[in-house]
Amino acid sequence: MARAVREVKSVCVYCGSQDGRDPAHASVARAMGDALVDRGMRLVYGGGGIGMMGQIADQVLARGGEVIGVIPESLMRAEVAHAGVTKMHVTTGMHERKALMADLSDAFVAMPGGLGTLEELFETWTWAQLQYHDKPMGLLNVNGYFDGLMQWLKQAVDDGYVRPQHHGMLHVATDPVALLDELIQST
Ligand code: AMP
Repeated sequence: MARAVREVKSVCVYCGSQDGRDPAHASVARAMGDALVDRGMRLVYGGGGIGMMGQIADQVLARGGEVIGVIPESLMRAEVAHAGVTKMHVTTGMHERKALMADLSDAFVAMPGGLGTLEELFETWTWAQLQYHDKPMGLLNVNGYFDGLMQWLKQAVDDGYVRPQHHGMLHVATDPVALLDELIQST
């Protein structure tokens, strides 16, 4: 499918509802917030006020940027819905949340997180593989956090389960600025 040239105005960021143990992860979340604001890009995210989600949202807001949260009603308490976002969409469930986050965004970035983060990244990636969308996708590999995943993905290609062109859809970088630049150039 020919890729339409489009401006990246809104970036959907998937990341942990916890901070993790490596302090570099939280500082990279804030650096990603800076990189978005510096480019005049809007943050679309899961609406949480804690963990990596809270870190990036707080930083974008502190810098005067725009933050759109999308959270299921049932998770508003567990994920401590952020009280200060520019706009919060409250959905009836997880499927509606993910669909709305995707609709509101021009590109996707995954940062360190857990099962929810991976589920969101892989759903978005498989939708691209099926040509449901052609929006660019990136992975921020901070301090080698995703090295094991990268190694498995390479094995999945070598073993004939993932096509190289689908593997190549995911842009990987260690630095937020480099990753956003790659995503912009790929549109
Ligand atoms: P985690 O990486 O597990 O901390 O989760 C990060 C975000 O993904 C949180 O906002 C979770 O609510 C969300 N999440 C968890 N499970 C799922 C799922 N099955 N589908 C979509 N998002 C999820």
